[in-house]
Amino acid sequence: MKVAVALGSNLGDRRANLELALRQIAARPGVRLLRASRWVRTPPMRGGTASGWFLNGVALVETTLPIDDVLSLCIDLEARSDRRRSRFWGDRALDLDLLLAEGIVADSPRLTLPHPGLRDRPFFLEPLLEVWPDAVDPRSGRPWSAHPTPPGPRPVRIGIPDVRRIG
Ligand code: ADP
Ligand code: MG
Repeated sequence: MKVAVALGSNLGDRRANLELALRQIAARPGVRLLRASRWVRTPPMRGGTASGWFLNGVALVETTLPIDDVLSLCIDLEARSDRRRSRFWGDRALDLDLLLAEGIVADSPRLTLPHPGLRDRPFFLEPLLEVWPDAVDPRSGRPWSAHPTPPGPRPVRIGIPDVRRIG
């Protein structure tokens, strides 16, 4: 099953935080990194308390793990990155979100798939389509490439993850 994972950071050495997370995801048995998007620089979201700009990107993985285990892996890596969880949309060294998993729809507070933010966050949708151009919404059967461009500032592409050069 293909799964798209969004990576974000707005604390410390953002690029190093994201590239470490990419390597940790790829190192997990049962998970294979297929593609990583360019990193994009995004202003903090309105309504949140985060102060600094974010670096975001999306990784496409192929996995044999149940989706719940992929989520647990993400939560575990966030916790290990010393993330502060106290504030809504607050500063974080690492935020990992599951955007989309092939054929999976989930509606619980622990896991909502596809990620509701895919519809309105350009820093989710644009990198997703870069790594997974024919991604389909399992709810509607429509391709995400046909989805209207979300409003707001365009993400600025700033670099290719080192892991893409290694792998
Ligand atoms: P946000 O990423 O919206 O800023 P958080 O990262 O603080 O919010 O939210 C983490 C919680 O969201 C986790 O406890 C997780 O179980 C839940 N969650 C629900 N759906 C998803 C998803 N698609 N990807 C990641 N976490 C999710
Ligand atoms: Mg999150």
